[in-house]
Amino acid sequence: MDLKEAQKKVDKWFEKAGVEKWPKFVIFARLVEEIGEISKCMNVKEGYQRKEVSDLNDEFGDALFTFILLANEYNLDLNEVMEDVLEKYRKYIK
Ligand SMILES: [Mg+2]
Repeated sequence: MDLKEAQKKVDKWFEKAGVEKWPKFVIFARLVEEIGEISKCMNVKEGYQRKEVSDLNDEFGDALFTFILLANEYNLDLNEVMEDVLEKYRKYIK
């Protein structure tokens, strides 16, 4: 699945769920929360925390879904965003 398709699927999920979209800053706060959950998983996997809180795969999924949701709110084309950033970083290895 490419990024544009993922963006459409996230939008469709909200349509089907029939829930009101959160304001942009709420989405951003949720993204930060999901990043924190990735951090907790990493602490367990690296042996710095004992209690398993959740699965790293699930938490990356939650964070990615929320990230895409935020990008959609700003009408960003993530394929274009990715191409641009890859071009930017390509310059560092020449
Ligand atoms: Mg989560």
